[in-house]
Amino acid sequence: MNAVAIMLATLLAFDAAPTQSVVVSGMTFGLVVHQRSFKDCDDAAAQLSGKEIAVAHVFYHYGAVPDPSDPDLRLLVVAVDTEKSYVEIPRISWPYMSSAEIQAADRLYDDLVIHERGHLAIAVESAAEVTALKHTVPANVDPRAALTPFAALLDARQREYDALTAHGVRQSRAPANLRGDDIRLDCK
Ligand SMILES: [Zn+2]
Repeated sequence: MNAVAIMLATLLAFDAAPTQSVVVSGMTFGLVVHQRSFKDCDDAAAQLSGKEIAVAHVFYHYGAVPDPSDPDLRLLVVAVDTEKSYVEIPRISWPYMSSAEIQAADRLYDDLVIHERGHLAIAVESAAEVTALKHTVPANVDPRAALTPFAALLDARQREYDALTAHGVRQSRAPANLRGDDIRLDCK
């Protein structure tokens, strides 16, 4: 959920692999995988610990539909922009990986995907939640301006998820539909 400028700098710093996709709530989102190399497993564990090393970039569409009860009003509609929103997940490696280390790195990757998919799922849910409020927008007002009071709500839902799961380190605490294994890198 970082700023776009920071995200672009990150993408330029890594070799972005061909874009893949993840499906969340029946919607397809881009998945950018970048390779990150370390000296060894302990180096990776030390550098990655305590940080959210994957990122979900979420963008919303705002619109308005006619209010059936008042021709001068429209109702705010918010949806996740599936074209623009995407997740970035690193794939980590180091020289001479043992098969156990390859498994540990694969597991880390899979668990990161689960955590970031959760951010997208929450974005879809909270956009629907804002739409369900049937907030009215005067016909002459840009619906984007009407969204401002709800932007905090959309952000808060993402922060609650990160607080609850400690950025995925405690993914087992997530709501049932988003639950997964706790993210960790097991160095033998
Ligand atoms: Zn997170």
